[in-house]
Amino acid sequence: MFRSLHMKLVLIMLLLVTSLMAVVGAFLITSVSNFYFDDFYTQMDEVFGSENAEFVNSLRSGAAQSDGAARLQEMLEANSGALGINYRSRNYYILDGVTGAYLVGSDDETGASLAMTENLLIARNGSVGCKTDITASYMDIAIPITGGTNFYIIYILDDLETVGDLNSQLFIIIMQALLVGLLISLLLSFLLAKTMINPIERLTIGAERVAAGDFGDTIEVDSSDEIGILTTTFNEMSSVLHTTLEAVESERNKLDTLFLHMTDGVVAYARDGALIHGNPAASEMLSRPVEECSYEELFADIFPFELVLGMQRPHFAEGELTVDGKYLEVYLAPFSDEKNGGVLVVIHDATEQRKTEERRREFIANVSHELRTPLTNVRSYAETIRESGGELPQEMEDGFLDVIIGETDRMTRIVQDLLTLSRLDSGRTEMQMAPFAFGDAIEAVCRSIELEAERHRHTLIREFDDDLPTIEGDRSRLEQVMLNILSNAVKYTPDGGEIRVSAGVRGDTVWMDVCDNGIGIPAADRGRIFERFYRVDKARSRESGGTGLGLSIAREFVQRHNGTLALVERDGPGTTVRLTLPRKQKGTRHG
Ligand code: ADP
Repeated sequence: MFRSLHMKLVLIMLLLVTSLMAVVGAFLITSVSNFYFDDFYTQMDEVFGSENAEFVNSLRSGAAQSDGAARLQEMLEANSGALGINYRSRNYYILDGVTGAYLVGSDDETGASLAMTENLLIARNGSVGCKTDITASYMDIAIPITGGTNFYIIYILDDLETVGDLNSQLFIIIMQALLVGLLISLLLSFLLAKTMINPIERLTIGAERVAAGDFGDTIEVDSSDEIGILTTTFNEMSSVLHTTLEAVESERNKLDTLFLHMTDGVVAYARDGALIHGNPAASEMLSRPVEECSYEELFADIFPFELVLGMQRPHFAEGELTVDGKYLEVYLAPFSDEKNGGVLVVIHDATEQRKTEERRREFIANVSHELRTPLTNVRSYAETIRESGGELPQEMEDGFLDVIIGETDRMTRIVQDLLTLSRLDSGRTEMQMAPFAFGDAIEAVCRSIELEAERHRHTLIREFDDDLPTIEGDRSRLEQVMLNILSNAVKYTPDGGEIRVSAGVRGDTVWMDVCDNGIGIPAADRGRIFERFYRVDKARSRESGGTGLGLSIAREFVQRHNGTLALVERDGPGTTVRLTLPRKQKGTRHG
């Protein structure tokens, strides 16, 4: 209860008033007592002092009489006013100087039982007893009077009752003043609370609200004093804090979204090895949830945690991991050298990259190999002709020259096919999309292959649906695709075979099947015949002028028409290749 500022203020005010009144009271009461004492001895001095020697002499003369005590009484009565004798609190007594016995006085009752005070003893020894004892409950003076043989003591005693009454009155007044003072201080403290403590309380509530993250309202400023300035500054600080927090929050959200959607895996560890963050890509790449594994389990083989922590930025460690056939590149770096730093791990899935590199290497090796064979042939036949020095029989020389021309043609075909693929890869091939009759295109291709089929005594059967529609596409390229499939059927079917070309429409697509009863494709090779340079039987392909690139080019063209080119699984010998194409293209596609 006394911890609130308001209560402290009230307490301070009350203490202040009480102590002030206590000091004032003590001062007043002491002053009154001192004044009373001073006044008593001044009065006595005025009557019995050396300045009034005449009166003292008359006292002595009176004392010398046989009824000395009565004479003294008369004279004292006559001066009772000057002595302040009031017969109540202040009285006079005349004592026998030798025995100390009471003789007469203004109060016989007290006189009969007078105590032998120090001043009385002094007077009995012949001196004036006027010692002041501030602690005593009385004040007195004893004056020895010697007249002839008579020795009297005039003793004046004040029981301080008047001072006591006065002090009691004073005490009551001080108490009343204290009460009023306390009431005023209470009132003042409430007023002060209103002007000083209320704004501080409002500020405290506001600070608590801000600490709890509520930046909604600003605190009302209703004064321009220090508290007003403090409140204004607090409002500004809270607004800046709010803006900064919003900016930090937005940055954090951005980072969270980035981590969530980035294709690279990111894992962050605190200095003590605890996981701070791990994105879904990291778990997916590592094929296990990063939240459930420690750094040691995941990356210790690449680089120990402590060593990464000890690195100076911008240095970092890197390594490789192979997880479930995936090839992962791992980069480890310390983030921030401060106490709250840690280790950041970035994982990059380089599987595709590796495969592409591998494919490229394989492709280059294939190209070199494919070109080297015809080149070797050309060179050896040309050398033979030259070395013969024109001695070769004409027929033989013609045969050799035919081989040279044939091989050059083959190389030209390979180079042309490679150029076509390169253009497709680099997106430089533009499809000339236009509507054309699907059936007409198949018919044209069949006609162009008819002669070749006849040469091999194949039976070419056409089975087209009647209502083959008009489709959208690059006719010449699609005819090239169809010709490739058909010529493969002719090439890879032993003479006298049967080649069936069927076509139809199914919903929004058209299809064409080319089915032969030739050598077929072994199951192991079926998945690969669309790869570049892949051939089941290299010798046979070369013999028939194939390059091993025809089907891969065909598939690229078909894919650019949003269609498919695939082998059909079927029983019996031979092969069936199916081409499907959408009737309409979704806008003209390039490349
Ligand atoms: P190529 O120029 O060698 O014919 P392709 O890319 O056209 O190249 O064909 C790839 C390989 O697929 C051929 O070498 C061949 O082994 C196989 N192939 C394609 N069509 C047939 C088919 N109808 N019958 C048997 N094998 C085929």
